[in-house]
Amino acid sequence: MGRGSGRLRILAVVLAAFAALAVIALVGFRTTTHPASPATIGVARSSDEMEASLATPGPVVVETVVGADWEVPRSGLINLTHPEAVRAGLEDGPEPIQIYVHVLRHPTRGTFLVDSGVERALRDDPENAAVRGVVARFMGTDAMQIANDTASVVAREQGGIAGVLLTHLHLDHITGMPDVPRGTAIYTGPGEAGARNLQNMFAQGNADRALDGHVPLGELAFTADPSGRFAGVLDLFGDASVWAIWVPGHTPGSVAYLVRTPDGPVLLTGDTCHTAWGWQHGVEPGSFTADHEQNARSLAALRALVARHPSVDVRPGHQSNEGPRRPSPHAAKPRGAPHPALASLGARLRRACTS
Ligand SMILES: [Zn+2]
Repeated sequence: MGRGSGRLRILAVVLAAFAALAVIALVGFRTTTHPASPATIGVARSSDEMEASLATPGPVVVETVVGADWEVPRSGLINLTHPEAVRAGLEDGPEPIQIYVHVLRHPTRGTFLVDSGVERALRDDPENAAVRGVVARFMGTDAMQIANDTASVVAREQGGIAGVLLTHLHLDHITGMPDVPRGTAIYTGPGEAGARNLQNMFAQGNADRALDGHVPLGELAFTADPSGRFAGVLDLFGDASVWAIWVPGHTPGSVAYLVRTPDGPVLLTGDTCHTAWGWQHGVEPGSFTADHEQNARSLAALRALVARHPSVDVRPGHQSNEGPRRPSPHAAKPRGAPHPALASLGARLRRACTS
């Protein structure tokens, strides 16, 4: 055995390592290893039927609770290269946002949460919160000013929580799940749990912890909208009170919820639109989004829906749409954004994963 064959062996090992890395980069990691199975609620309808229902008030009361005030890089929330953003002179920098849990009270079906707010431990015991360690530092969770933890929100509901409707599985939407009683039904969009990318190499363990001990995720079973406007529309309870709209793009299984209340319809966009500015100008999110073109199409379809029904009260994923944001009564000013190096690393990683 000469020096030549030794070099060949090293070359073979290096090539094998590169091949393994290439496969990992190509295949990626699931959002969560938490089990998922088809949901048992939801009746497929057309968006025509959904829109026809909006003329009359509905029975569900919606309370949007601010879980936390936070700030993150604007370039993640808004596509700053969009012509509208360029025209407005928007630049990158810390953007104040909020994390919500929407409480839906249905007269006979009980109380449902849309998204999950913020885990109590994230404030009181961050070392043991589901989202912790490197990922928490990377996200800048220490900049969160927690106003209402989800344990407190859940404790207020005398009749318990009938289910959680997750708009998608990003960590800032499932971080309150440890405070939701085990056994509560949980619903997500199709393919959301199994969606793969490289950044999940870091996020997956945190997502698994947030969902630990919970029942399998019920994946809503959409079929194509016969009216051709959306990827799919479900009448969740069969009484036209809560509509789930499949809006892929931000993530493959992103879902928006349209709720008929006594005061008119409320649209919970999820992160198909994070910000008030993005909603008002029709500009999709920036580096936090997986598929820009698909996200932009889904956002355009939601905005067209609201243009046809101007009475809809629109609640974007992370900001109030009502002029200047109302500061939370319990919150102080956010302390700061994630470290810029981490933020740009995150943006680079996301670009690498989603391009
Ligand atoms: Zn998101």
